[in-house]
Amino acid sequence: MWLQRIDISGFKSFANASTLEFLPPTADSRGITAIVGPNGSGKSCVVDAIRWVLGEQSMKLLRGKKSEDVIFAGTPKRPRLGVAEVTLHLNNDDGGAPIDYAEVAIGRRIYRSGESEYILNGTKVRREDILILLAKARVGQRTYSIIGQGMIDEFLLASPTDRKHFFDEAAGIRPAEIKRDQAMTKLDAARLNLAQGETLLQEITPRL
Ligand code: ATP
Repeated sequence: MWLQRIDISGFKSFANASTLEFLPPTADSRGITAIVGPNGSGKSCVVDAIRWVLGEQSMKLLRGKKSEDVIFAGTPKRPRLGVAEVTLHLNNDDGGAPIDYAEVAIGRRIYRSGESEYILNGTKVRREDILILLAKARVGQRTYSIIGQGMIDEFLLASPTDRKHFFDEAAGIRPAEIKRDQAMTKLDAARLNLAQGETLLQEITPRL
């Protein structure tokens, strides 16, 4: 599976809708695309856009404070925008990722009101759906799929627990972990309901 294209519009410094096309892999090479520009020209905004569309929620990792900080904030010459959108196109023609799609378009949109949505191949989905699909394809937004500045150092210095996340993703057990976490949250909610039910029964039973 390879990254084919990214459409970025209204995201951080990308006030104009822009498309970045990446080289396809050939028989003897994986294809390398370099993005070159002066300091502060927005190269890292491309990486932020990739992390963000893959479901990243940590504003620290996205180099902002509030979720709206990813929307183009305006310049003296240009008013701010009300919506930011990023769509990532992944090509899986070779079936390299064990998922049922030959092409995956993952989109994320955020409005200044704070309303946010995810779109998978044109259909609105939940963030968890994107996370599970990516985990099945062994792409994670927090591990080795995106290697940012200083990350190799971080990996070498990481605690065994932190380092385990990388191996879990490579081994393909992340989908099961995500589902387990979801099941635990549901179980907690069910326990709470049960406790409320029991309290009600204790109150009502003596009056039967
Ligand atoms: P360096 O080489 O120094 O790491 P870079 O090319 O990676 O730089 P970035 O750090 O990605 O550049 O660029 C940040 C630029 O994006 C800054 O000019 C900043 O003002 C702009 N920027 C970030 N968020 C927004 C936003 N919400 N609206 C408008 N511009 C933004």
